[in-house]
Order: sequence, then C-alpha cells, then structure tokens
Amino acid sequence: MKYLKKGFSLVSGWGLNKWAEVNTSTPKNLDELVNLIKESNSGSILARGLGRSYGDAANLDGQTVINLDNFKKIEFDPSNSTLTVGGGATLKEIIKEIVPKGFFLPVVPGTSNITIGGAVASDVHGKNHYQDGSFGNHVKKVSLVDGNGYIQELSPSIENQKEKFWATVGGMGLTGVIYEVKVNLISISSSLISVDTRRFNHIEDLIMEMEKNAKDYKYSVAWIDSLHKKFRGVLTRGNHLKFENLKINEQENPLVIKSTKERSKPKFLTKIFLNKFTVKVFNTLWFYKSPRNEIGKHESISTFFHPLDKIKDWNKIYGSKGFIQYQFFVPSDSKEKIKFVLDYLKQNDVPCFLTVLKKFGKRNSSYLSFPDEGWTLTTDIPNSIPRIDKILNILDKEIAKSGGKIYLTKDSIQSADIFKKTYRFFNYWKKIKKELDPELKFISDISIRLEMF
Ligand SMILES: Cc1cc2nc3c(=O)[nH]c(=O)nc-3n(C[C@H](O)[C@H](O)[C@H](O)COP(=O)(O)OP(=O)(O)OC[C@H]3O[C@@H](n4cnc5c(N)ncnc54)[C@H](O)[C@@H]3O)c2cc1C
Repeated sequence: MKYLKKGFSLVSGWGLNKWAEVNTSTPKNLDELVNLIKESNSGSILARGLGRSYGDAANLDGQTVINLDNFKKIEFDPSNSTLTVGGGATLKEIIKEIVPKGFFLPVVPGTSNITIGGAVASDVHGKNHYQDGSFGNHVKKVSLVDGNGYIQELSPSIENQKEKFWATVGGMGLTGVIYEVKVNLISISSSLISVDTRRFNHIEDLIMEMEKNAKDYKYSVAWIDSLHKKFRGVLTRGNHLKFENLKINEQENPLVIKSTKERSKPKFLTKIFLNKFTVKVFNTLWFYKSPRNEIGKHESISTFFHPLDKIKDWNKIYGSKGFIQYQFFVPSDSKEKIKFVLDYLKQNDVPCFLTVLKKFGKRNSSYLSFPDEGWTLTTDIPNSIPRIDKILNILDKEIAKSGGKIYLTKDSIQSADIFKKTYRFFNYWKKIKKELDPELKFISDISIRLEMF
C-alpha cells in the first residue's frame, strides 16, 4: 500500500479514472486567499470545486488545491433579477434559494452538485444551449484573484476587461480563482416543467425532429440506444410551466422545491459487470419503458434536470478502474459523424452506457469553451475495456478532421496535438493567461497533459 504524504489526500474526477495526491487549502476569507496565491510558487496551485469534472481537470498531483467552502454568499437583487454568488456556492444551494422567489438559473448542467466557480471555469451548458447559449453568456461579472494575487473585476461589456473575462469563462481554473460571480436569472411562475417524450426507431428521424421543432421547446435532450442497429432513441423536451397552466392542486404551492433524498445505487448494478450484453438489456428496457409519445407531463426541476443526483455514488458502478465520459462536438454540417462514432464503438465491442445527444447553438466569445453550433454526443465507457485509449484516440482524430472537439471538463485521454488542432483560439488564450498569471502558478494535470504552457 502506498502511503500519502502528511496533510495530503487522494482525489479524482467523477470518472474515477485519474487520481492525484493533493494538499487542500481552505482560505477563510478573501485576504487569506490573496495571501495564499501571492506566496505560492510556479505550478503549485489550482481551484477545485466539487470534483464533478470527469477526468483530471480539477487534479494537481503533489500540489495544493484551493477549496472555496468559505465563499458561499448568495445575494439576490430583485430590482434587476441578478444573483451575486460566492465561487464555492453550489447550484443545488442556489436553486433552493431562488426558485421559491420565482427565479431560476439561465443554464443548468445535468447535475446540481457543482460550484459556481466550476460552472464558470468549464462554461457549462445545459439542455437549452441551442436557445440560450452556455453559462458564460449570462454572467455579468466575474471576480477573480489572478496569479499575481491581484483582484480582477471582469465584465464582458467593458472594453479592457472583456478579454480577461472570456479567458476565465471556460478557462478551466488556469487564470486564477473565481471567488464571486454576478449572473442574470430568468423568472418563472412555477417550479414545474411541462415535458413531452417521444420514441424514435432511427437516429436520423430523431435528429430531424430536433432540428425541425427546436423553437417550440426551451429544453431538449435525447437518449440514444448505442447498441441498436439503427441507434433508436428517446427525445425529451420541455418548457417551464406557467402558473395558469398548473393543475388546481399545483397552484396552491407553485414554486415549491421538494427536497429529494439520495437513494443508494440499485444493488444489481454493483454486482453486474457492464458489458455489451448487460448494456443491451438495459437499453431495451429503457427504450420500452419510455412512452411512445407523451405530451405535457408535469415534472419537478430535479426530475427533469438532475435525475442522476437522486442516485448516490452512481459513478462507482464501473469498478476499480472507473469510466471515461467521452463527450465530443461536431459542427452541423458534419452530423453524420455522430453515427460514425456510434458505429465504430459498436464494431469495437465497446459497451456505451447512458448515451446522450444535444443540439448546440452559436458559440460565445470564450477562447476555450466547448460548445459551438452543431451537435454533442456524450457516452459513458468503462475504463477497463482493453485498448480503450487507442480506440478513442482514433475517434478523436476523426472528430478533429470534421472540425469537432472533445470537452475538456470530461476529457481523460485526448493528446496535446489533438487539443491544439481543435481548440482554435488556444494561442489567444495563452497570451491572456500569461498576463493574468505570468509565473504560471495555476496549472492542473490536464494542462500538463495537453501542454497548455
Ligand atoms: C452527472 C453529471 C452531469 C453533468 N452534466 C453536464 C452538462 O450537462 N453540461 C456540462 O457542461 N457539464 C456537465 N457536467 C460537468 C460539470 O458540470 C463540470 O465539470 C463542472 O465544471 C463541475 O464543477 P465542480 O464545481 O465540480 O468543479 P471541478 O470539477 O472541481 O473543477 C472543474 C474545473 O473548474 C475549475 N474550478 C473549479 N472551481 C473554480 C473556481 N472557484 N475558480 C476557478 N476555477 C475553478 C477547476 O480548476 C477545474 O478546471 C456534469 C457532471 C456530472 C457529474
């Protein structure tokens, strides 16, 4: 057994496939945070939120990660529907605070267990990217302590701040520590979502429907049966329900947030090995369990946006090697690559679990942000599959050829070469990184792997 250095602990991303020994520092206030950064050496620090990135983005082996548990302010300003929130506050805490007041976050990812710092640093997207863009599109101000220990108040609308703002949004924690964020909220008159669900026997028909009727729905996401010959799927779309459309009993408490208890993961999932056969059985059950065509089901925010948050430790079902969440983007004119990737994984006997397709709208001005106009497919793959890194490296190249890229916050295996070919604004970002952090104090295991400096 390997012993950890004194004061160090072992951490990983959500995929449990990359580990790091870190010393965690939890500054009590802004002064302590500034001093910590000023006194740090080159290559020795990184902010870490709840570790819900999947690979090595929040890891820094042998060094210090900064925890913002003492930065949890949540301050709502009803006069302009904005929220000023500490970098360590979680989306779950924020939703609990703002929904009963009739407001909601403009973008939420598939889990509420992330911090605001992590939401900005990864520029997270939700089921509404094609309508509303990613998280950074709605941020009015980011307060950052940079590598010099200087406080930077960054707004996207102020000329001499906007480059630093967009280098920090999607900047994967490498420009400094985000300790506060001001974000616009959307107003809602109920906490329920009206959900339409429809099954499709072919992925082509499903994609066509997502393109054709995109305007009718604020949120849209499809689950794909990755082992089916025609990649059938289930499309789920929704809109916030207006008060007047609630049932009488729902109108009594329209903005209620029900506290959801985390359930343990189903026991059978800990016992079975995820292979082609078990995934096929699961997918068939899932497909037929979904309604053929259901209109207007009322669902709570947690059921619609964050169903996986209800299952405790679901990331542990893949065994000791963990899993890789492979998420790529391809532009609209290369959508045939989605089928190509699914076919290739199937031919190579890779059991892809929980495969999800989303449509993206226009990119924002972030240099390293992931979303761009087109499509994104996400799939969970056991890391124990022989030669999985080689298989995915081949796909990375195909995706790069069609103008696509791999999401940094999910990535565990792409090469520096692919990263530099596909993140076309990387060199601009690097220049701004140098201004904000000339001594390169902020690094991460992914930044080392991708040779970002
Ligand atoms: C079940 C599940 C579903 C998900 N669904 C989606 C989805 O739909 N869309 C999507 O975009 N993402 C999704 N994600 C990924 C997740 O939203 C991002 O990885 C997010 O960044 C995690 O936030 P965190 O607080 O856990 O940050 P970490 O994972 O701890 O860190 C992520 C990155 O943010 C940086 N960072 C964290 N805090 C700060 C700070 N205060 N200042 C500066 N940098 C900081 C870290 O250095 C690191 O580079 C999902 C993750 C899970 C587990």
